[in-house]
Amino acid sequence: MTKKDNLEEYKKKRDFRKTKEPSGEKGKGRIFVVQKHKASHLHYDFRLAINGVLKSWAIPKGPSMDPKQKRLAIQVEDHPFDYKDFEGVIPEDQYGAGTVIVWDKGRYENRGEKSMEKGLEEGEVKFKLKGQKLKGEFALVNMQKKQWLLIKKKDKYAGKEVNDERSVKSGKKVGEIE
Ligand code: MN
Repeated sequence: MTKKDNLEEYKKKRDFRKTKEPSGEKGKGRIFVVQKHKASHLHYDFRLAINGVLKSWAIPKGPSMDPKQKRLAIQVEDHPFDYKDFEGVIPEDQYGAGTVIVWDKGRYENRGEKSMEKGLEEGEVKFKLKGQKLKGEFALVNMQKKQWLLIKKKDKYAGKEVNDERSVKSGKKVGEIE
């Protein structure tokens, strides 16, 4: 299911002479980031730092604060730790061409009984997000192959409204990035 932490696939897909995305290495800290990515299809990239790399899922509809709205999350290649700050344009001839904003970021806590690594391997992780938009308990549950569901758990933050449009880094909308 989840291969070992590996940035090879990430690097293979990109030409760092052309894209300003980080070619970086591992980093430290229990952080998460959500990037809103206007590519051929608009989606949100949900990333959790585990073992120094950003484990990543593409979520077509984006995360929801409503426990009834389980969101399909497709696992994609690990990204380098410093991708957490990337906001900008990916050039047209590059993988993921389009614009990216930092939609939310913050720290997280493991709320599962096992390590995050073990949880991923077994297909279920539970965590508490401390973002500017996303807060409280969530789970990622594997359905089949690369398909997971991101689920908001019931807590005092459930149902909270979030600003879908603006970057927490620049205040810009995804259409305002140049
Ligand atoms: Mn993406």
